[in-house]
Amino acid sequence: MSGTFVGMPAFPEAARAAVGDATLRANLRHATRTIRDKRARAVAELDDWAHLREAGKRIKDHTLRHLDRYLLRLEEAVTAAGGTVHWAADAAEANRVVTRLVVETGESEVVKVKSMATQEIGLNEALEAAGVRAYETDLAELIVQLGRDRPSHILVPAIHRNRGEIRDVFRAEMGRWGRPAPDGLGDAPAELAEAARLHLREKFLRAKVGISGANFMVAETGTLVVVESEGNGRMCLTLPETLISVVGIEKVVPTWRDLEVFLQTLPRSSTAERMNPYTSTWTGTADSDGPRAFHLVLLDNGRTDALADEVGRQALRCIRCSACLNVCPVYERAGGHAYGSVYPGPIGAILSPQLRGTASEVDASLPYASTLCGACYEVCPVAIDIPEVLVHLRERVVEGGEVTRRGVRVRLRPAKGHAAERAAMRAARWVFRHPGALRAGQRLASRTRAAHPRTLPGPGRAWSATRDLPPVPAEPFRDWWRRTRGEGSGA
Ligand code: SF4
Repeated sequence: MSGTFVGMPAFPEAARAAVGDATLRANLRHATRTIRDKRARAVAELDDWAHLREAGKRIKDHTLRHLDRYLLRLEEAVTAAGGTVHWAADAAEANRVVTRLVVETGESEVVKVKSMATQEIGLNEALEAAGVRAYETDLAELIVQLGRDRPSHILVPAIHRNRGEIRDVFRAEMGRWGRPAPDGLGDAPAELAEAARLHLREKFLRAKVGISGANFMVAETGTLVVVESEGNGRMCLTLPETLISVVGIEKVVPTWRDLEVFLQTLPRSSTAERMNPYTSTWTGTADSDGPRAFHLVLLDNGRTDALADEVGRQALRCIRCSACLNVCPVYERAGGHAYGSVYPGPIGAILSPQLRGTASEVDASLPYASTLCGACYEVCPVAIDIPEVLVHLRERVVEGGEVTRRGVRVRLRPAKGHAAERAAMRAARWVFRHPGALRAGQRLASRTRAAHPRTLPGPGRAWSATRDLPPVPAEPFRDWWRRTRGEGSGA
């Protein structure tokens, strides 16, 4: 995925380092609690939230089921409106296409509006290798870029930074990238926003090429949609002569009517706003306004493989609102960098191992980056059952099994380091298939309960070191049921 995360350790190691950082934990706790409380109030205002959620789920499921048809319809509409569509099977192909398009304009710099797809493919690094400098213009992305940092949240990529840290980054780095920070810059939000505005303005007015992502693509008209809070995106979309949009194929919706649902659920779930401040839509090119050339790069990069997975494909419903991150107790403590991917938090834990596979240690660890508390499912505006997919992926990591990779069915071997878990699951499977053995084991456990250790021996020690082992009852449930309800009562 993104080159920026190459070399990250697996989640347990990265999370251990993160939870030891008191400043990081305080920044995250403050930010996630504020956003999730506001979101809960914004959602509670709507009587029909449950219906909207169900409608969003159904629209996405329907579109994914007929994805081929809607993508072809989209291509037709974009082409008819004067745009050019490019299909990219993977990150390398997408980077090749975009780099070629930029180099053909003769320009050596581009402005970008926040796009997770371009972070996913490591586009900035690919452009840099071709001698093209990419300037991030979303405020949080700008902070990340100036700080030579990595994004740690879907909506607020610099959520791990507080205002004092941001002021220091602006003071130290803005001058190296363009207009320096004003003298005596303080850490008040208005001062920081003004510094960023002045810094970015010269880039907006100079750049001839803009690169964007999109929140949605409407198949019936070939229209792309970006929703944002700052207006910087709109500058990127309208001022440059050439606009290149790199978008995951799952972002298509059939009609404008479908959009109506998501334009209600997305802002309330992400920024807790009733309506996002800027909604920009663009369809091909026009003679009198906006870019003279428009290119749409449709990115697969593992998405059709995820689509082939009956349980895991629901992750492609995601509209990147980030509500699941803000309620996740694991994300709140470990932060986004620990996930080793541009998609952090609960959605990252199910999306990244599907897009990238589970062969690496980082990806094999992600399905375990959760307590399975279910809070992420409760808030998800398209009802993705994240815990179900996590358990499904854990099974894949432990047992291996059949998956689709680049359109071909292949059999995965179990990931390394899960032998004890595999043995425990096999033993449990055998015991549950033999009720007599289960009953005898339960009775033996009850009779010997006083002698049970408080921690597990061997490989189980690490598990029980951070958890209380549940006490074994004095009498097995089945025996209690028979004793209190009598024989033949169904136990
Ligand atoms: S999984 Fe659901 S809650 Fe999480 S970012 Fe995606 S749409 Fe939002």
